[in-house]
Amino acid sequence: MISVFNCDVEPGTKVYDYVHAGYLAGNTECRIGYGVFHGAKEGPVLTLISALHGWEPMGTEIIRRAMLDVDPKEMTGTVVVIPIANPFSMEFGGTAESSGLQVNPADSLNLNRVFPGRGGSGWLTEQIAHLLTEELSRVSDVVLDYHDGTSSNNMIPLVTFPAYETTIGYPKGLSARTEELAKAVGAQVGRRREGAKPNSGTISTALGARGVVTMMLSVAGLGRVDENVDEGVRCTKNLMKALGIISGEPEMPDYQLYCSGPQHEVLYTKAGGFFFAAEGAHLGATVEKDQELGVVLDPLTSEVREVLRAPFKGVLGMFRGKMVTNPGGMLGHLANLDDYYWSRGNLPK
Ligand SMILES: [Zn+2]
Repeated sequence: MISVFNCDVEPGTKVYDYVHAGYLAGNTECRIGYGVFHGAKEGPVLTLISALHGWEPMGTEIIRRAMLDVDPKEMTGTVVVIPIANPFSMEFGGTAESSGLQVNPADSLNLNRVFPGRGGSGWLTEQIAHLLTEELSRVSDVVLDYHDGTSSNNMIPLVTFPAYETTIGYPKGLSARTEELAKAVGAQVGRRREGAKPNSGTISTALGARGVVTMMLSVAGLGRVDENVDEGVRCTKNLMKALGIISGEPEMPDYQLYCSGPQHEVLYTKAGGFFFAAEGAHLGATVEKDQELGVVLDPLTSEVREVLRAPFKGVLGMFRGKMVTNPGGMLGHLANLDDYYWSRGNLPK
């Protein structure tokens, strides 16, 4: 028997339930849905959590698809799913047909900046963070936290993980275990973050400080079901296979390119206007240093306000799909092909 959020689950079965997370002033209840797939045989506990940012709903769908054909009777270990961790942020977004928000509209806080949260007297978002920190650190060995390119960008799989250095207070052995699993996920691009201190606000630093391997998988976007959703499912299954929860050979991509710190760069537009991609610049493309990635045009006069170029030779692991860009809009992510710390397979020439 395993107990998650006060729900007891027998071996070889699955349950779906909701956990109470608080009431708003008008008595609207905030509750968070979850599922527990408890294997017939004892083994590691993996938690799949998504939509900490409600404007990134693709992980929710990836989790649903990944778990469709998983039978607890055949499993060794347990998978806990929390597909919509921050429900109000998916519900509200400022337009009639909402595309969601990064923050929780109940208190305007970013859930992935307030971990480990505050119990009792905290804002709703801090209370959610506290609830998740306490329960996930109690039950989980490994946590995978999904993000996506929002309604502006699309992504091939990117795994981001803290280096979990013991010198800044993380448990011994956590770093090596995280590194091993971050590679086994089979993301095409990886980013290791050095120097992220324990409890600095993200779920990975809070749970890492409590000994739980925690990684972020960013994949898909634009609210679109396409091959990148399948890629997210592939990575999810790879992690379950690596932990021995389900059987089967991992499915790896042609290459993996893992960067550290500034080897991986997030690119933004400076000008506002209409964005149009240049020829040869698309999601997953290899681009040369100084290659044109696109332009931002004045929507009235057609004047070119900005020409965007690649700062180095790399792979576009994230790329903009939305035409309207505000100043500081996200153009994409670039992983450096001349300067990286680990690779596997046939890197693009
Ligand atoms: Zn996010």
